[in-house]
Amino acid sequence: MAKAKKDNDWNLAPAPESTGHVKIDKKYDLFIGGKFVPPTAKKYFETVNPATEKILSQVAEAGQKDVDKAVKAARKAYDTVWSKMPPVERSKYIFRIARLIQERAREFAIIESIDGGKPIRESRDVDVPLAAAHFFYHAGWADKLNYAFPNAEVSSLGVVGQIIPWNFPLLMAAWKIAPALACGNTVVLKPAETTPLTALKLAELFMDAGLPDGVVNIITGAGSTGQALVEHSDIDKIAFTGSTQVGKMIKRSLAGKSTRLTLELGGKAANIIFEDSAIDQAVEGVVNGIYFNQGHVCCAGSRLFVEESISSEFIRKLKHRMDHLILGDPLDKNTDIGAINSEGQLNTIQSYLEAGEKDGFEMYQSNVAVPKKGFWCRPTLFTHVSQSSVISKEEIFGPVLAMQTFRTIDEVIDKANNTPYGLSAGVWTDKGSKIFNLTTKLKAGVVWANTFNKFDPTSPFGGYKESGFGREGGLHGLSAYLKITG
Ligand code: NAD
Repeated sequence: MAKAKKDNDWNLAPAPESTGHVKIDKKYDLFIGGKFVPPTAKKYFETVNPATEKILSQVAEAGQKDVDKAVKAARKAYDTVWSKMPPVERSKYIFRIARLIQERAREFAIIESIDGGKPIRESRDVDVPLAAAHFFYHAGWADKLNYAFPNAEVSSLGVVGQIIPWNFPLLMAAWKIAPALACGNTVVLKPAETTPLTALKLAELFMDAGLPDGVVNIITGAGSTGQALVEHSDIDKIAFTGSTQVGKMIKRSLAGKSTRLTLELGGKAANIIFEDSAIDQAVEGVVNGIYFNQGHVCCAGSRLFVEESISSEFIRKLKHRMDHLILGDPLDKNTDIGAINSEGQLNTIQSYLEAGEKDGFEMYQSNVAVPKKGFWCRPTLFTHVSQSSVISKEEIFGPVLAMQTFRTIDEVIDKANNTPYGLSAGVWTDKGSKIFNLTTKLKAGVVWANTFNKFDPTSPFGGYKESGFGREGGLHGLSAYLKITG
């Protein structure tokens, strides 16, 4: 066995996931009306592996005419097939999709890691199983909607436009498509421009599942494609997940129209550690909350509040753990921290690191080696930051933690709620009473206690304030895709 060179160099032998069975085409067209069709303007853009900077594929850029074709295909499928199909038959298709995702789980996990940069451990153990779970859960509801909302009349909305970000490409597609189909709607989905591949693989899977043509259409492109979808006159609902900035633009452009809208936007979650918590467990929870997945999580615990009496010990233990995180090849099963999703996002993160240093806060970065090619950021901790600083106010979407201390419960509640966001929060304590006190007072859509970043399809997820409105998952998520009367 290889000998460790120093305490912080574990020197594990590489354990890369084999990619032999994974097929990525050189070029992908748009998935409209049940088949792949070239874009009207014949324009394509590159999708790149952020860990190597190698081009993976050329992907079609949908223009306004293509968006129109996709919406027409979805409308036709809604009017002639999907809305007329008995719900129990719809549910069979959704179950089939869930099972096919499970069967092809390794392939999906590998493509997710290659296209997005996230560690295979996460795509294999979180993204893909949860995506399958979302289809299973909603397949179960498809023929029981009247029981989900007793004493009410429920009906589908029609054609739904869905726009998703790059941090959980397959999972976000599942969060959007599964409830929409279960409720009897048809879909036009636009994945993010830096991570289109798993959505396109999902299109192939829909063909294998025999899903009727046009029930789900997948159009690739950047912001202008998303905008054309939002502005299309024959869309009954827009479901958007992404930045608060784009969410606000979408809300403005739908003002005065009857189009339904749900927005799942940014976050700046507080992770609160009390002196009576299990400290080693809390350190691991903080690492899981911000450093795994490179901080590319909307609900990342990016603001850390530690009770003053344990702050020195906590910082020491956290730095020690940071030094042992393994950064590198996303396909290596030992990797904790993969690549930053794109060069643009890396530049954004770097500008925040500079802002934090310029404000005079102490910055600690783990001393892991960083590969020469690709986009990488070392796990970073800023200690004793001020409430008003840019790094504690704005969403960075990178592996950057801004830490403050507190002395009393009221103080930490005030500090945690002092943000325009309200997506999630975490509380670490031995006392159940403290947990109940904080869960009622923290203004966040989800509050985790003695854990972080845990998801389940039965549990609604969504935010307060500038983190958006509407919920995904559970009964609340279903209701966002239904007309409910009575
Ligand atoms: P983004 O807003 O830049 O892009 C999201 C999607 O919107 C992409 O598909 C993009 O092409 C599209 N888009 C861009 N401009 C558009 C426009 N004018 N009209 C319509 N569509 C447009 O966000 P991002 O950088 O891809 O993702 C990161 C953001 O997503 C972070 O703020 C993160 O917090 C948020 N997010 C939120 C959740 C949640 O559930 N609340 C989940 C994941 C990510």
